[in-house]
Amino acid sequence: MMSRDPREPALISIVVPVFNEEASVDALIPRLFGLLEREGLAGEVICVDDGSRDTSWDKLIAWRTRYPALTLVSLSRNFGKEIAIAAGLDIAEGNAVILMDGDLQHPPEVIPEFLAQWRAGYDIAYGVRRNRDHDGAARRWLSRTFYRLFNTVSNTPITPDAGDFRLMDRKVVDAIRRMRERARFMKGIYSWVGFKSVAVEFDVTERVGGKSSFSPGRLFTLAFDGILSFSTVPLRIAMYAGASIALASIALGAYYLIRTLIYGIDVPGFASIIVSTLALSGFTMLQLGLMGLYLGRIYDEVKARPLYLLREIVGKAATESVHSRIKDMSDVGS
Ligand code: UDP
Ligand code: MG
Repeated sequence: MMSRDPREPALISIVVPVFNEEASVDALIPRLFGLLEREGLAGEVICVDDGSRDTSWDKLIAWRTRYPALTLVSLSRNFGKEIAIAAGLDIAEGNAVILMDGDLQHPPEVIPEFLAQWRAGYDIAYGVRRNRDHDGAARRWLSRTFYRLFNTVSNTPITPDAGDFRLMDRKVVDAIRRMRERARFMKGIYSWVGFKSVAVEFDVTERVGGKSSFSPGRLFTLAFDGILSFSTVPLRIAMYAGASIALASIALGAYYLIRTLIYGIDVPGFASIIVSTLALSGFTMLQLGLMGLYLGRIYDEVKARPLYLLREIVGKAATESVHSRIKDMSDVGS
């Protein structure tokens, strides 16, 4: 494997999605710039404010005077972490881009290790959680089951415990930027693009403050199909209804079978008709619901709405190159 010249002048971008992180912003920013300085790296930090409703944005703005290499992007509303990351990747200009959470659960001290792997020739260095102590046993079991299920039904294998904390080479970032789908299941996207990857273990730390935006319910939805798509919910209900009817008809069939064996036939033909009617309509609804899930997905994608809208960019984004990048990727009003 060809290794990169460590002296090569490289710009490192650190992209951080921020949603209601007022408790950690003031700790995060100096820590990131302190790290860049200690490592002797030319770097930029891009915080994407994902429609925070607290003082995160003002706190970020205040740090601008101190750190000119801090670029702040504010989305027009809360679009979700995956889309905030997409916006950050569109704006980042580094030869390598590091993604990390804004709540300091991803320790910045791991970044030098990512960089070492990148310089050794890897295109992706991804963080793997060493500990899941913060999660209960039930959550751990559910997540294991999900990974097993996903890897059984999908051709794109995903790595358990690998998340968004990672370094990606420019070519990986450009590959991901070409994937403009709205249902952004990031673990799948990271895996789909491929490239030479290496795992770097790290310990998840406690949130500095505030609370997680990912409730068990939200995680379930993420696990189910990437991102909640409200317009496909009725279709999903149709599918569940179909499945329950189909199951109920199987149970009813078993009941009539046993009853007939014990007591004989009362009304000839009744049982078989009712059971087959129920079973068939149940299965039909199941199929329709399933098709609806995919159709809803297609509908979402075919509308081809911009992935996100920007409210404001503060920092280097005034430069021509960034403007043109954003312009092709999302429809920012001129
Ligand atoms: N986040 C975001 N938009 C959202 C929810 C979360 O940009 O709608 C950011 C959040 O600010 C944090 C990261 O995504 O930087 C991870 O979120 P969180 O800590 O809530 O998730 P968890 O660590 O529990 O998985
Ligand atoms: Mg977190």
